[in-house]
Amino acid sequence: LVARMRGFGETIFAEMTRLAVETDSINLGQGFPDTDGPPSLLAGAARRIEQGVNQYPPGPGRPELRAAVAADRAARYGLEYDPDSEVYVTVGATAGITAAVLGLVEPGDEVVVFEPVYDSYPAAIAMAGGVRRAVTLRPGPPDEGGRFVFDPDELRAAVGPRTRAIIVNSPHNPTGTVLTAEEFGVIADVCQEHDVIAITDEVYEHLTFDGVAHVPLATLPGMRERTLAVSSAGKTFSVTGWKTGWVMGPAALVRAVQTVNQFLTFTANGALQLAVADALRDEMDWVRAQRAALQRKRDRLSEGLRAAGFTVLRPQGTYFVMADIRPLGLTEGVELARTLPRTARVAAVPAQVFYDHPDEGRHLVRFAFCKRDEVLDEAVARLGALS
Ligand code: PMP
Ligand code: GLN
Repeated sequence: LVARMRGFGETIFAEMTRLAVETDSINLGQGFPDTDGPPSLLAGAARRIEQGVNQYPPGPGRPELRAAVAADRAARYGLEYDPDSEVYVTVGATAGITAAVLGLVEPGDEVVVFEPVYDSYPAAIAMAGGVRRAVTLRPGPPDEGGRFVFDPDELRAAVGPRTRAIIVNSPHNPTGTVLTAEEFGVIADVCQEHDVIAITDEVYEHLTFDGVAHVPLATLPGMRERTLAVSSAGKTFSVTGWKTGWVMGPAALVRAVQTVNQFLTFTANGALQLAVADALRDEMDWVRAQRAALQRKRDRLSEGLRAAGFTVLRPQGTYFVMADIRPLGLTEGVELARTLPRTARVAAVPAQVFYDHPDEGRHLVRFAFCKRDEVLDEAVARLGALS
């Protein structure tokens, strides 16, 4: 293995899912729903395959999906993208983000990320030979919800003449923070001051709670021309295995993604793209209902975790809730996550692995609540029996 990829090992999601399977645990580690997306979406894909949509689609993606993505983005956020030159389909958001970093970051360039950081960003930065600078999101007082926020001064200190890009994920995995227009304003100022590109990971854009709305960074003044937005169908339609994503941005940034991606995956599954294009138009009521259901699941699991003795930091979106283990008399989240499958037959993810400053996340464990209610209840019962 090349030196720059040493230390990445196996992803925490693969490790914890394997442990969950080995111990027959309820898997609240890796974030995937245990029910499938809208029936018309599933049938739409099956129909396309039967009808013979089985050869390479165009490199940039099926025009139907690029048009649907552009129409959706314009309708929801007032952001106009040319489907031909400013929208490009990738094998999930992961490939879009990695291709963006490989296409835009020179060796030695710095890339700012927020920690806890989604694990694919550090790997992509390392592949490009870039250097990452992590700005910490810290929880507020738990009795006020414990929302994770960054310190604007720390962000300003992390950006300098070598900074090429900043990767921003909102709604944020794993903290559930949905950044506000004001918080994005700080990021926008820094980007413009230092001529920095923003890559925004918006895969949870539809999964926000309590009436909180997702804000795309590209809607802020001066940001559309320097933002590459990334999203995907996986979370929106509960089909995480479909790996159908897209990037949206000014043509020059999209071309950088395309140049790299044509040699990574070349193209993505065409039948699934057509089904997703239909769903973006026809299944937004389903998405709204799913968002409401997820909010109830958040509350259900949070209550159970509290009853089991954890301090719960309330997420405003995503599939995940962060829990502080210190009230249980524990300090090491990594240790707890490694033993929990055997002691309670529940799997979770230790947040510490997402930090460059390990002490910030030592005592935090992430639980996924995107599961059927009876599964959440059983997990809570098992965790309750622990204490
Ligand atoms: N970004 C974040 C923050 C995620 O949680 C995930 C996991 N789904 C991804 C990207 C990857 O998305 P995709 O499956 O579309 O590659
Ligand atoms: N995004 C999912 C999570 O955070 C996992 C995706 C993966 O396994 N790489 O749990």
